[in-house]
Amino acid sequence: MRLSFDLHLHSCLSPCGGAENTPADLAAMCALAGLDVVALTDHNTAGNCGAFLRAAERHGLLALPGMELTTREEVHIVCLFPDLPSAVGFDARIKPLLPPIPNNPGFFGPQLLMDDTDRILGEESAFLAGAAEIGIYEVAGLTAQYGGTAFPAHIDRPSFSLLSNLGFWDANMNFPLAELSPHSPPALLLRPDLSGVTRITNSDAHYLDQVMDAHQYMDLPQRSPKAVIHWLKTAKNSDVFFRRT
Ligand SMILES: [Zn+2]
Ligand SMILES: [Zn+2]
Repeated sequence: MRLSFDLHLHSCLSPCGGAENTPADLAAMCALAGLDVVALTDHNTAGNCGAFLRAAERHGLLALPGMELTTREEVHIVCLFPDLPSAVGFDARIKPLLPPIPNNPGFFGPQLLMDDTDRILGEESAFLAGAAEIGIYEVAGLTAQYGGTAFPAHIDRPSFSLLSNLGFWDANMNFPLAELSPHSPPALLLRPDLSGVTRITNSDAHYLDQVMDAHQYMDLPQRSPKAVIHWLKTAKNSDVFFRRT
């Protein structure tokens, strides 16, 4: 079956995420956008994933729990997991690696933990946008330990990206594919180090109006998070289908 997907979305738990990006409203917006497969990837936390998965299920979406991890090199990596316990386990592994800095809600905004009915459960007190004490070469192996997969986020961006901070794509990092931001320059694809690297485009929405309409599709043998992760690990560029505009 051919399913549209967006696997990089933030909720109000991300310090830079809009307060209106509650898990419930984000799931509703994804359904309105015509998406089939979605993932919640807040910065360095999976704290709102349970609420998002429940809300997404009500809308008939296939939702994966995840996290946008910031590595020691200040590179953002999208990490996705097959189920909530795996994501919670990964979250517990990352939490002690975060810098011991409290969030400053007045400056960065509150980091809201929500349930799936728009109720605030609390605020995450640790600052979530710092760099975790984990190297980029360790991430693929660590996510695999939890049954998940990982790929570098928005590699074309001038900050917090693999190409901006490391300068090149190294196959030894063992990432199965790369994420481009929606407005990535076409010339980027001419880079020799990206030759043959599978690429997908996610919205990286921090606000509800940044959720993009369905525009890219994957073919899955079955509708399950494990099938999504397997697809991400094995897809070639010819397996990514784009809507013609
Ligand atoms: Zn990012
Ligand atoms: Zn992001």
